[in-house]
Amino acid sequence: MTNSQLTPGIAAGRLGAGDYARNFDDIAPRYDAHEARVAADRCYFCHDAPCMTACPTSIDIPLFIRQIATGTPEAAAKTIFSQNILGGMCARVCPTEQLCEEVCVREVAEGKPVEIGRLQRFATDTLMEKGVHPFARGKATGKRIAVVGAGPAGLSAAHRLAMKGHDVTIFDPRPKAGGLNEYGIASYKSPGGFAQAEVDWLLKIGGITVQNGKALGSGLTLDGLKKDHDAVVLAIGLAGVNALRAEGEGLKNVLSAVDFIAELRQQPDKAKLPIGRDVVVIGGGMTAVDAAVQSKLLGAENVTIVYRRGPERMSASEHEQEHATSVGVRIIHHAAPVRVIGNGAAQEIEFAYTEDSADGLKQKDETFRLKADQVMKAIGQTLEGVPEGLKVEGGKIAVTGAGRTSVTGVWAAGDCASGGEDLTVTAVAEGRDAAEDIHASLMG
Ligand SMILES: Cc1cc2nc3c(=O)[nH]c(=O)nc-3n(C[C@H](O)[C@H](O)[C@H](O)COP(=O)(O)OP(=O)(O)OC[C@H]3O[C@@H](n4cnc5c(N)ncnc54)[C@H](O)[C@@H]3O)c2cc1C
Ligand code: SF4
Repeated sequence: MTNSQLTPGIAAGRLGAGDYARNFDDIAPRYDAHEARVAADRCYFCHDAPCMTACPTSIDIPLFIRQIATGTPEAAAKTIFSQNILGGMCARVCPTEQLCEEVCVREVAEGKPVEIGRLQRFATDTLMEKGVHPFARGKATGKRIAVVGAGPAGLSAAHRLAMKGHDVTIFDPRPKAGGLNEYGIASYKSPGGFAQAEVDWLLKIGGITVQNGKALGSGLTLDGLKKDHDAVVLAIGLAGVNALRAEGEGLKNVLSAVDFIAELRQQPDKAKLPIGRDVVVIGGGMTAVDAAVQSKLLGAENVTIVYRRGPERMSASEHEQEHATSVGVRIIHHAAPVRVIGNGAAQEIEFAYTEDSADGLKQKDETFRLKADQVMKAIGQTLEGVPEGLKVEGGKIAVTGAGRTSVTGVWAAGDCASGGEDLTVTAVAEGRDAAEDIHASLMG
């Protein structure tokens, strides 16, 4: 069963076999040892390094780069993993151009930062490929913790709790652990089954049981989890998708960009994925860019992202917008969908031009249409399945400090928790910090 229904204009296998392999290959292959040394030598090993402050997980960047420069990448990896156990995935997916590399003194002075992300990948891959897990469990505490959700936030919390000697059970409805690392991140950022390899490697700490096919709200209740455990971490991400609220939204081939990407990530043979000739993606974030770029890489002829505001308001970074246009995606700004037109299945979509005014965004009378075999919605995700009694603010579970919710004994971390950016690295930081807070509160 695919997200897209086969109608004229939608077909699988538009490209030659070699094209798929090339298109979905690693976008930033790993450095070899020599390249890593050369890149590491560019670092000034700054005191009060701004790159470290900009990293949501506060990795000691000058230290790990020095360790690479002195020929000890395994030690560098341990420096990274001690702050960020998913440092391997973050090295692949972090928008470093907006975080550590943006503030690197060499970027500020010369417009060319030290390539921190690629150095991090070199170090973490070197250690992980040896199958070595660099941490051991602490003495058993006898405490049992439930982690709900096996994405970056849940995995990070579980690992830190297991390290402290607690017994952890992770519950997740999906057949594979990893959350959006497995089902969301663009294929070319994390090819070769890296997400699952990373989960397997992380679980080597011991003391963590993953129960798939288990969802809070469908079999599991918060009260039940609290009764059986000493603490509960909610790391359920944002499972819902915002509606377009445009006429014709129910037509065939109007789909969620997140579902499209999840299907693409799980299909090893990309030639089997049906794609439209004309694809329109609505939204302005990473999901919109990833859906559009991957549509193009699957062989769609015309792919257009339409965003209701200007480029400066898009949450996809300038770098990501440039990536989209470099593969041939067109971006139209200042337009909002009015209706999808088609006879059973989408054929066209009508937009109205918009303008920002003192009273907010206004639609103008002027409209235009785009051909669309597929319309992908990438206009934000929403919190689903929040248990009754938990305070919610701004559409997320309200937390204070290191993820404490309004219910005693229950923490929340990652995209589902209030505050912080919706990024993999932020989810990892929040999961880790919630685990530290749980440990402190359970062990006094
Ligand atoms: C398409 C896409 C591309 C992205 N690309 C990037 C990128 O390149 N770089 C980057 O930094 N960030 C990216 N992000 C954002 C990043 O993936 C998220 O911020 C991050 O995954 C959040 O981690 P999380 O653990 O909070 O949630 P998730 O990764 O969403 O994990 C939540 C987990 O909870 C489970 N769950 C849901 N409901 C329940 C329930 N009721 N009971 C039990 N379990 C449940 C889910 O199955 C899932 O496994 C992207 C997001 C999307 C959607
Ligand atoms: S800011 Fe740049 S040069 Fe300074 S420590 Fe960080 S990576 Fe090295």
